[in-house]
Amino acid sequence: MVHLTDIVDRVRGYHSQADFELINKAFVFSSQKHEGQKRKSGEPYFTHPVAVAGIITEMKLDTASVCAALLHDVVEDTDVTVKQIEDMFGTEVGFLVDGVTKLGKINFTCKEDQQAESFRKMLVAMARDIRVLLVKLADRLDNMRTLEHMKPEAQARIAQETLEIFAPLAGRLGINWLKSELEDLSFRYLFPEAHADLAVKTKKVSRDQDRYISDVCKRLQKMLIERGFGADCSGRMKHLYSIYRKMRQTNCEFEQVHDVLAFRVLVENVADCYAALGVIHSQWTPIPGRFKDYIALPKPNLYQSLHTTVIGPGQRRIEVQIRTRDMHGTAENGIAAHWKYKERSSGPDSKDAARFAWLRQLMEFQHEVADPAEFIDSVKVDLFSDEVYVFTPKGQLKVFPRGATPIDFAYSVHSEVGDHCSGARVNGAIVPLRYALHNGDTIEIMTSPQQHPSKDWLDFVITGRARNKIRGHIRAEEHRRSIKLGRDLVERAFHKKDMSFARFLKSGEADRVATALKSQSLDDLFASVGYGRVAASEVYDAAMQDGTSADAMRPSFIERTVRKVTGDSTAGGIRIDDVDDVLIRFAQCCSPLPGDAITGWITRGRGVTVHRRGCLKAMELDPERRIDVSWSEAVKIARPVALRVTTADRPGILANVSAAFTESGLNIQEANCRVGADGQGVNLFQFLVDDAARLQVLMRKIQGLEGVYTVERA
Ligand code: MN
Repeated sequence: MVHLTDIVDRVRGYHSQADFELINKAFVFSSQKHEGQKRKSGEPYFTHPVAVAGIITEMKLDTASVCAALLHDVVEDTDVTVKQIEDMFGTEVGFLVDGVTKLGKINFTCKEDQQAESFRKMLVAMARDIRVLLVKLADRLDNMRTLEHMKPEAQARIAQETLEIFAPLAGRLGINWLKSELEDLSFRYLFPEAHADLAVKTKKVSRDQDRYISDVCKRLQKMLIERGFGADCSGRMKHLYSIYRKMRQTNCEFEQVHDVLAFRVLVENVADCYAALGVIHSQWTPIPGRFKDYIALPKPNLYQSLHTTVIGPGQRRIEVQIRTRDMHGTAENGIAAHWKYKERSSGPDSKDAARFAWLRQLMEFQHEVADPAEFIDSVKVDLFSDEVYVFTPKGQLKVFPRGATPIDFAYSVHSEVGDHCSGARVNGAIVPLRYALHNGDTIEIMTSPQQHPSKDWLDFVITGRARNKIRGHIRAEEHRRSIKLGRDLVERAFHKKDMSFARFLKSGEADRVATALKSQSLDDLFASVGYGRVAASEVYDAAMQDGTSADAMRPSFIERTVRKVTGDSTAGGIRIDDVDDVLIRFAQCCSPLPGDAITGWITRGRGVTVHRRGCLKAMELDPERRIDVSWSEAVKIARPVALRVTTADRPGILANVSAAFTESGLNIQEANCRVGADGQGVNLFQFLVDDAARLQVLMRKIQGLEGVYTVERA
C-alpha cells in the first residue's frame, strides 16, 4: 500500500515547491471520511484514493491534481459536498473533484460501436479541464488493477468500457504506458482464454527473447558509438493486447507475427535521430513502407519519433523507434508531460495560459498533420468542443452542434416528432423550446397533433435537418393556402362575369388553360394566382378564348341558385349523410332557414332540393325520392326570408316594425307596403336571416307591437 510519505516524496521529487500541507490535509480528510468503508477485496476503501493519488504522482501532476485524486470519491460516497471541498481546499480542487464526480455518473453502456467515439468526445467535453480526465483515468486504472474482486458480469462490463473508451482516450492524450496497461488488463478479463494462451506463449519464448533483445541492443549501441554519437538502446516485447490485435488483424498465429519486439533508441537531438536512422538502415535492410516520420509530422497527441521496421539479426523483423529524450517523455506521459510544468507559473492568467498551452500546441501541430482523417479525429478531442452530448429517455447518446435546442433534438428523432413538438423536458423539468442543450442532458419531447412548425423556430434551431424540415413545412402550408386563395379569386372572377366556375372545372378547358399559362397543373395555376404571379382575370380570359368554351361555361338558371356541398366543407350549410359533392338548392316555395325542420328531395339531374318539413308543394313529390338532410352544426348562412305583416292603417306603426328589425340586428332589404281594400296595412318585408330561432324572436316582437294584427312567413 502507498503511504502519505510515498506520495509526498514523489511530489517533492518533481516539484519541490508543492503545497505539501494541502496534500497532507486532503489525505487526512479523505481517510476520515472513508473510515469504515471497505472495498470488494476487504481492504479499507481509503487504499483506493491513495492508489489513485500514487498514479497521479507517477504522471508528475500538480498539487491540485494530487488532492483531487485523494478526494475523488468523497462527494460520491460520503456526505461531503463540493462546496465543503471548495471551502477546505480551494475552488481549483473543488472544481476537479466535481468534474470527476460528474464523469462518474455517466453510464457508458455502448450498444453500438460508433457510440464509443461519441462517449470519448463527451468525456473530454464534460471534463473541461484535462486534469479531470487524468484523475478519472488514474481511477479507472486502479479499478482495473483490482478488478479480480468483482463479480464476472461487472468485470466484463468494466473491461469492455475500459477497452472501448478509456484506453483509446489515454492513447489520444498520448499516455502510452497507461493505454497499454489498460488494454492488457481489459484483454485479460474480456478474452481470458486468448490472454492466458498468449501469456504462456510469450513467456515460453521470452528467455530466448531476452537474450536476443540484449544482443540487438548491444549491436545497435556499438554501431551508433562507432559513428560518434551516444545512444540509449532498449528493447521489449510489445504488450499482449497489441500482439493480439495484430494476430486478429493479419489473421495469424502468434508464431507468425513478426516484429513483436520493439527497440527504442534515445539520442541527443533531432539531427541525431535521422543520422541514427541512416546508420541502422545501412546495416540492416529496412522493410519498404514501414518507415514513418513522426518527427516531421507529429501525431495529434504530440507524439514524435521515427519508426522503422528492419530485418535484424537472425533474419527477424524488428521495429526500431528513434527519438530524443524530450520526445520520449512526451511519448510516455503525453499531455500529462506538458501539464507538470504548469505549477511553475503564477497568477490566474498565466495559469490559464499554461493550462491550455498544450491545446494550442496541439492545434498548431494539427495544421501540419498530413492525414486529414487523423486531423479531424484529433480536432474533435479539443476541450473547446463544438458539440453537445445528450441522451434520449432510453439512454441513447446523441451528438449535436453546440447551441442545439429541443426542436433540433425532436427532428433528429423523426420529422413527425419535430413537426408536432409542443414542449420538452430536460432531466425531468419542462424547458422552453429555445433552451440550449447541455452535455449529459436527458431530453424528452412532448408532442401534440395540434402543434405545427412555426416560423419562429427558425430563429433558434441549429441543425440543417431541423431548419430544412421547418422551411419545407412552412412552404407546403403556404402553397396549400395559395391554392385555396387562388381558386377563390378565380371563382370570383367567373362569378363577376356570370360564368360557371364549376363548369369550367369540369370542362376540358381547365387543363388547357393551365398549360397556356405555363403551369404544371390546375393547382399550380391556382397557387400562382394565390402568390400573385398570375392575375385571376388572366385565367378567366384564357378560359374564354374561344366562343364555344364560353358557351359551355354559361351557368344554367338552376346553377345560379344552387349551392354546392363537398365532403369536408359545409358551404351550403346542409349535411347529407354519406353523400359528397351534391348540388343543393333551397326550395323557393318555402325558403327554409337554418334551424327549420327540413327534408330533401332528389331531383332529376339537379341534385337535392331542400324544403321545410310540411311544405305543401313537397307533399306532391315522389316519396321515394325523399332523403334525410339536416343543417350542419355551427354553420350560419343567411337565407332570404319574407314576412307578411298586417297592421292597422295608422301612422308610426311602420316605424315601430322597422325598429323591431333593427333591434334584432336584421336589415330589411325590400319592403312593399300598401293599404288593402279593407283598410288594413299589408306589408311584405324581405330580409336575410341565418337562424329560424332568431326569426321566431323577431316575429314575436312584431306581433307584440300595438296595431299589428298578424305576422307570417310568406
Ligand atoms: Mn474511484
